Amino acid sequence: MRLVLLGPPGSGKGTQGARISARHGIPAISTGQLFDRQIAAGTPLGRRAERYVRAGELVPDEIVLDIVGERLEGSVDCAVGFLLDGFPRTFPQAEALDRMLAVTCGPLDAVIDLDVDIDEVLDRIRRRARLEDRLDDTEDTARRRMKVFAEETAPLRRYYQQAGLLRTIDGAGSPDEVAERIEAVLADVTHPELRLGG
Ligand code: AMP
Repeated sequence: MRLVLLGPPGSGKGTQGARISARHGIPAISTGQLFDRQIAAGTPLGRRAERYVRAGELVPDEIVLDIVGERLEGSVDCAVGFLLDGFPRTFPQAEALDRMLAVTCGPLDAVIDLDVDIDEVLDRIRRRARLEDRLDDTEDTARRRMKVFAEETAPLRRYYQQAGLLRTIDGAGSPDEVAERIEAVLADVTHPELRLGG
């Protein structure tokens, strides 16, 4: 399965991505996590990305495409598939991904769009800030990240809807509840012939 997880910061992408990855045996590739590691290790890439991540801004496309291209080329087994968490986030990234897949694994199977209430998400981010030591979980940065999502990433829903790939999932409720909804959608993606009533 070749999947993309779309959804605003705090929508549960990380949690759900890990579950999908474990359940279906596909690697989850999180660009946020890749940047965090590079920043922590103080690599040149990390140093280039750090100020954007700290400010809640998007890292410029050319930097992102550099690392994702490398990561995809280096470790993706097309037969196994993958789950992209936090990528693509802009039109140029989505188009670059399409081009990359056209010459490697073939097109995406689905884009899982986690739909959550903005106030709920800000609340989750606040709670997470107390539990995890994230670089970018201050109130201001969280708001900035939400705005960036609305402006730069949310329009991708339309892009993937037009491609017939968008699967919007209600992201409210417990992680188990959301995971169940995702599994129902993935069952339909992999075995559409089993769809109820069809
Ligand atoms: P995340 O953990 O996915 O919310 O990512 C944390 C931060 O990493 C984001 O706020 C951005 O600064 C940066 N980042 C992660 N993925 C991307 C991407 N695809 N494009 C640009 N910036 C990204």
